[in-house]
Amino acid sequence: MTRTHCPYCALQCGMDVSAGGLISAESLCQKGWTAAEVLRAPDRLTTPLVGGRAATWDEALDLAVTRIREIQDAHGPDGVAVFGGGGLTNEKAYLLGKFARVALRTSQIDYNGRFCMSSAAVAVRRAFGADRGLPFPADDLARAETVLLAGANPAETMPPLVRRLRGAKRLIVVDPRATATARLADVHLQLTPGTDLALALGLLHIAVADDLIDAGYIADRTRGFAAAVAESNAYWPERTERITGVPVRLLRESVRALARRPAVVLTARGSEQHAKGVDTVTAFVNLALALGLPGRPGSGFGTLTGQGNGQGGREHGQKADQLPGCRDIRDPEARAHVARVWGVRPEDLPGPGRSAYELLQSLGTEDGPRALLVFGSNPAVSAPETARVRERLRALDFLLVCDVVPSETARMADVVLPVTQWAEEDGTMTTLEGRVVRRRRATVPPPDVRSDLEVMHELARRLDAPGDFTPDPRRVFAELRRASAGGPVDYTPIDYDTGGFWGGPRLFLDRFATEDGRARFVPVGFRPPAEDVCADYPVYLTTGRVLQHYQSGAQTRRVRDLDRAVPGPFVELHPELAARLSVAQGDAVRVSSRRGSVVVPARISAGVRRDTVFMPFHWPGANFLTNPALDPLSRMPELKVCAVRVEAVRES
Ligand code: SF4
Repeated sequence: MTRTHCPYCALQCGMDVSAGGLISAESLCQKGWTAAEVLRAPDRLTTPLVGGRAATWDEALDLAVTRIREIQDAHGPDGVAVFGGGGLTNEKAYLLGKFARVALRTSQIDYNGRFCMSSAAVAVRRAFGADRGLPFPADDLARAETVLLAGANPAETMPPLVRRLRGAKRLIVVDPRATATARLADVHLQLTPGTDLALALGLLHIAVADDLIDAGYIADRTRGFAAAVAESNAYWPERTERITGVPVRLLRESVRALARRPAVVLTARGSEQHAKGVDTVTAFVNLALALGLPGRPGSGFGTLTGQGNGQGGREHGQKADQLPGCRDIRDPEARAHVARVWGVRPEDLPGPGRSAYELLQSLGTEDGPRALLVFGSNPAVSAPETARVRERLRALDFLLVCDVVPSETARMADVVLPVTQWAEEDGTMTTLEGRVVRRRRATVPPPDVRSDLEVMHELARRLDAPGDFTPDPRRVFAELRRASAGGPVDYTPIDYDTGGFWGGPRLFLDRFATEDGRARFVPVGFRPPAEDVCADYPVYLTTGRVLQHYQSGAQTRRVRDLDRAVPGPFVELHPELAARLSVAQGDAVRVSSRRGSVVVPARISAGVRRDTVFMPFHWPGANFLTNPALDPLSRMPELKVCAVRVEAVRES
């Protein structure tokens, strides 16, 4: 047996895997237990494909390099773009950023984490000076008096975390649906979709008005309190109830509970995937600071990272605006340092590129990239306004996809390269706690499959790229440490084999990572969703996950038990809405937004609000409807709320 970690979510549960792919572990969810089936998926990619037919590696790589050269000769370096993923190991994420900027000389690189954690990353860095999902060990949650979860459903997305949450005396859940997590809660704040920011402002208002704030902490450890409170003045309880639909009684009860420390405030995608996601997370940070929680033993503020390497994926430079070590790509000192490590001149490093949705939207346009290389992502399912994204992917002159199975994006590609997956490879991942863990090779991959690192190595070699593109993850990690040295996220103390936390397991106990060591309140105001309900589209759509599936579903849809349990997309709607539409359980309904229309079976549930429907996003469907309105700072699309029309589909 070899010790490694689950391929899916950011908890990165440890597991022992035998050479034959048998899993043994103490605690896993259903996805983790069945993960080995993806190693043996019947349609596993085992040979390169060129134009849909089997090819040799030399043929596929030579063609890729020829097309890259032709396109860059005609359109310049930015004619080729790269799209990465938050599930890639630290080494892959790092080498991908270097590959784009040094081997391809393109500024056009971003990744699917832009759709996931980007709003939290901006808000948390702005407030605390450093961006780590949980700046304390997850076990601390079990010791809290109260935990407030804003837009998180760990009972389905990361079930083992619930054990820790059960240790807390009181659980408050903010969610428009009575999710599995909300059903465990002592208090469920079932708000109108898109009003999380008003809710957080209303909670801050109560904390101040009822004198529940921690004045000593605010004076000693923070700046900017007065301006942030001024913004919350307009959110007195009755007005907050009118906007959010949450009764005043529950608002007051929640603030009183949080004020009895130790307490923790956590956000996740529900409050982050909005065109005002940064401000929404900031409003919850302001609430936590007013109550004196962040940087206090047993208390704190955190964000629950989603993807397997959601944390490490955003630290090593696969973001459009970032160099390794979470450095700003515009910072001359950062550019000089990273250029030294990479053996190039700082002036040869490109500047910032387009964010993920803007990049996808620009593909094949007059001034956009003509070629795209995709690693560890399935944007043909996961990007908002999917029909438009697919249209842009079809407009490309060249699409290359590295994947383990023929995902929807891979099926559109000119060249598909079959790559190794979790138990077949070595590397490191960084958990939601900021803990670096070792992924170890436990099983032998199919003979003609290579790692993403080998793909980058081979492409860089054929492109005569300067510098080292070793495919050896241990050596890549050593270089990653040097590149991160002295940056906001510094991996130099971390050992490849034994792992560890950057900055230690608990951050901010003595000082925050800002220049003066104090956390920042940032004043934020409420604005309604980018698209509100109206006569034509009278119902809110919100999206999310189910227990059995992960992200775009490319892996979990191929696992028999998971597929049997939830075999396809559906729309969840309230019995009253179903009655108005004369729709029964399982009936086909059409859900339409301004961007598209899908027909899915109905699931009737009193757990969803009367004015809202819910769709999971693990299949092509939900994202045909979602709104790509972007947050001005994080460039996060508004995946969590848009306006739709729901109609019964009658057989003719
Ligand atoms: Fe895997 Fe996450 Fe389930 Fe753990 S909770 S077994 S990491 S999917």
